[in-house]
Amino acid sequence: MTTVTGVGSTPLSGVGTVRWYRPDEALDLPDRPDPEAVDPERERDRFESARDSVREDIRRARDRAAERVGDEEAAVFEAHEQFLDDPQLVDGIEATIDDGVTAEHAVDDVFGEFVAQFEGMEGRMAERADDLRDVRDRLLRELLDVDAVDLSALPDGTVLLAERLTPSDTAGLDPDAVAGIATVTGGRTSHAAIIARSLAIPAVVGVGEALEEIPDGATVLVDGEAGEVVLDPSEGRRAAVSELDAPVVDDHVATADGREIEVAANVGRPAELDPAVARGADGIGLFRTEFLFLDRDAPPDEDEQFDAITAALDAFPTDRVVVRTLDVGGDKQVPYLDLPEEPNPFLGQRGVRLSLGDHADLFETQLRALLRAAATEHGADLAVMVPMVARVEEVDAVREQVESVAAALESEGVEYAMPELGAMVETPAASFVADALAERLDFLSIGTNDLTQYVMAADRENDGVADLHDPLHPAVLRAIDRTVDAAHEGGAWVGMCGEMAGDPDLTELLVGLGLDELSMSAVTVPAVKQRVRDTDTDAAEALASEVLACETRAEVGEALGL
Ligand code: PEP
Ligand code: MG
Repeated sequence: MTTVTGVGSTPLSGVGTVRWYRPDEALDLPDRPDPEAVDPERERDRFESARDSVREDIRRARDRAAERVGDEEAAVFEAHEQFLDDPQLVDGIEATIDDGVTAEHAVDDVFGEFVAQFEGMEGRMAERADDLRDVRDRLLRELLDVDAVDLSALPDGTVLLAERLTPSDTAGLDPDAVAGIATVTGGRTSHAAIIARSLAIPAVVGVGEALEEIPDGATVLVDGEAGEVVLDPSEGRRAAVSELDAPVVDDHVATADGREIEVAANVGRPAELDPAVARGADGIGLFRTEFLFLDRDAPPDEDEQFDAITAALDAFPTDRVVVRTLDVGGDKQVPYLDLPEEPNPFLGQRGVRLSLGDHADLFETQLRALLRAAATEHGADLAVMVPMVARVEEVDAVREQVESVAAALESEGVEYAMPELGAMVETPAASFVADALAERLDFLSIGTNDLTQYVMAADRENDGVADLHDPLHPAVLRAIDRTVDAAHEGGAWVGMCGEMAGDPDLTELLVGLGLDELSMSAVTVPAVKQRVRDTDTDAAEALASEVLACETRAEVGEALGL
């Protein structure tokens, strides 16, 4: 039994068969044979049969996408299928074969010319180059008999290993098929890890090069609680793993002395709503709307966003639903949005900076969908939250924008209502001006994933500084404390929606710090509810005071008994 360790990310365990995902591995073409040695008829047949198999694959991918995410996302596969019948491409390849070139080289040559042409164009046309590359690679894999890993169609019981996974890669996984994932790089609060958690896929990240020792086809256990990947786990080890076993509590919970704490779920897509309801969440504390924008070709339009928001409101008819406006940038890159190339994307145009800048159009569409959703049957519980706020002026500008969208809807005779408005506190700047923000807003929600990265100047994605990216450092705890106090003084309620909120071992501390709401991946809702019920507010406040007096991370750990 070999065990490699990393950072436990989804606190669940699973056993399965290893499949390595290496998307960057080049497709090596063999040397070109002498044209005389090529049999054009045979090569045409090879091309034909590769084309038939790829067509089948694309159709299967389209059907799966339509079933899981919707027809719009499936449309991209229809475009891919059309390339297979494009007369310019097909005639070009056949003519090249007739000149004495093998099928794989003919595909590579002719697709290469088209890719170069599209790459030279602007905007959406340039994106076609990616689609062409995708179809070319499918054809080449077929011709060269190289196996590709189709992430959305992994066999049941797969444990996926990779150097790293992108948020889009992870969003495409089928949680019923994937028994676990483990990656060489990455931290617990990277968005790929967050998506894995919301899909309840056991995950260990940041294992380092040692993960490479585990071969394809091996049987492994991914223990996302202990942060371990175990090769050939013993029967005893397999038997010891179990699901998180706190019972689901559907009602709102209060501390032992009666202080109600909302325990809500973080979601990114409508498909995550049912699991959140099933785990007893008290509504949604963070709907990351940018996940609706990933893994597709064009942004969702107003109606699609309206449908997603109303689906969340209808799933929680009596609970609050906090929808965050678009937070792209940083590690959430969306190719079709043409985000600026920046040397430090986490310090660049992210979240509200884009909504008030280059992507004001998307922001307006999103606000229209939100204000319309607020007027629906369960819309009174809608709250809108703005990400990456650093200045009071941003909140003022957002409010102006909300009012102008309301005026436009009014003049069009479209029904709308005004939702609660709040901001994320995830920059040190926002924490320092939390008093002024609270005066202007209904609520604040602390995003500890980013707040930790910015307070500690430690990239949330970089395992080399993972010990610094830890919300239990005194500096982060003090930023949280001052934010909670400032919110309450300004008459705003205050929640936490960073990953810290979902750690049951920190529930007592967070209650003691005065948070009104905790929002987390649905998987930990039952355990946190149980901890809330076990907490006594006076004891929690005493613990918080003790922890806030600590000067080092080690002292904090000791005070918390961790
Ligand atoms: C956070 O930063 O803590 C947060 C909840 O937002 P995200 O993880 O999506 O950046
Ligand atoms: Mg954030």
